[in-house]
Amino acid sequence: MDLFEYQAKELFEKHGVPSSKGRVTDNADEAKRIAEEIGKPVMVKAQVKVGGRGKAGGVKYAANADEALTHAQNILGLDIKGHVVKKLLVAEAKDIAEEYYISFLLDRTNRTYLAMCSVEGGMEIEEVAATKPDRLAKVAVDAVKGVDLAFARSIAEQGHLPAEVLDAAAVTIQKLWEVFVSEDALLVEVNPLVRTPDDQILALDGKVTLDANADFRQPGHAEFEDKDATDPLELKAKENDLNYVKLDGAVGIIGNGAGLVMSTLDVVAYAGEKHGGVKPANFLDIGGGASAEVMAAGLDVILNDEQVKSVFVNVFGGITACDAVANGIVGALQTLGDEANKPLVVRLDGNKVEEGRKILADAAHPLVTLAATMDEGADKAAELASAK
Ligand code: GDP
Ligand code: MN
Repeated sequence: MDLFEYQAKELFEKHGVPSSKGRVTDNADEAKRIAEEIGKPVMVKAQVKVGGRGKAGGVKYAANADEALTHAQNILGLDIKGHVVKKLLVAEAKDIAEEYYISFLLDRTNRTYLAMCSVEGGMEIEEVAATKPDRLAKVAVDAVKGVDLAFARSIAEQGHLPAEVLDAAAVTIQKLWEVFVSEDALLVEVNPLVRTPDDQILALDGKVTLDANADFRQPGHAEFEDKDATDPLELKAKENDLNYVKLDGAVGIIGNGAGLVMSTLDVVAYAGEKHGGVKPANFLDIGGGASAEVMAAGLDVILNDEQVKSVFVNVFGGITACDAVANGIVGALQTLGDEANKPLVVRLDGNKVEEGRKILADAAHPLVTLAATMDEGADKAAELASAK
């Protein structure tokens, strides 16, 4: 998960990385009030998860609170590379003597971590890498040894930072490494890392990507999720621990096992070509334990997708046998009651398939059609979706 700058700076503050004081808001009047509170010139900064905000007019200097208000009004709603600005960071403007670059990232190719550091900060680092590669240090970081103060100083030195600020830079760089490790980040990048006229080193911008695989041990990271940007159905699925991705079509898909669901998408897309080009509406893998609750949660998400016209449930019974899955479907339809309002095509195969089919046949739910094969089921579901 990529963080907004203001969120990255919250993590910086937690780990003692020096930055500039500020607060986030979605409101221009509030931006003015924050500037009044700070009582000094401020930067008004668009909070979007894309680089180059400065060049796009999303980062402005305000000498006083009235200017902050004007900038806030102009920047809110601005479209920066397809990202509409909904929030602003208003932060004390610092005097800048020089701008540097520092980052820690995962170097997958070399199976290690990497520090990148350059005296040429401020501009895009890809440009530095292309035009002045000798000015950009790439230093491998041993995961076990990590980064102590001496190593941090060496990184700064290799990035050609001037001698006068090496000690101060080392302290900040070492703390950024702490952010990287203790927050389970995949990327911590500061551009610009600033030298002030009195030789302080400050992180004036921050880009952090967190590793979602570590969410289980980072409960505090849940609050960083950008609920505005997440599809509401995906959000609902996530709350129920479902592996769901919203797509554009009209045939809802439920299956067990990522591989089976992927092939189901293909088969439905193929069948859909004969029925006016209908397509799958989603990816949903309910996993191994296809219980009634999980089935109900999955159906609930899919049936609430307005684009869905029919649903194809494609389950291969394994450890969870087809009879349990069939009971899950019947139970789910009971739980959902009137909310279950779209035709369901069910194909069961594998462990206890006869028992499973019998349970569904006996239940004789008016919305449920049984299909003998995956192709037949996909064709039926596509036909039902196109008929609506
Ligand atoms: P980006 O364009 O998205 O990378 O946004 P940044 O936060 O890096 O800001 C862009 C540029 O604005 C920086 O490279 C600085 O030159 C300038 N800037 C940012 N914060 C300050 C500040 O506090 N004082 C001054 N004088 N300039 C700033
Ligand atoms: Mn920047």
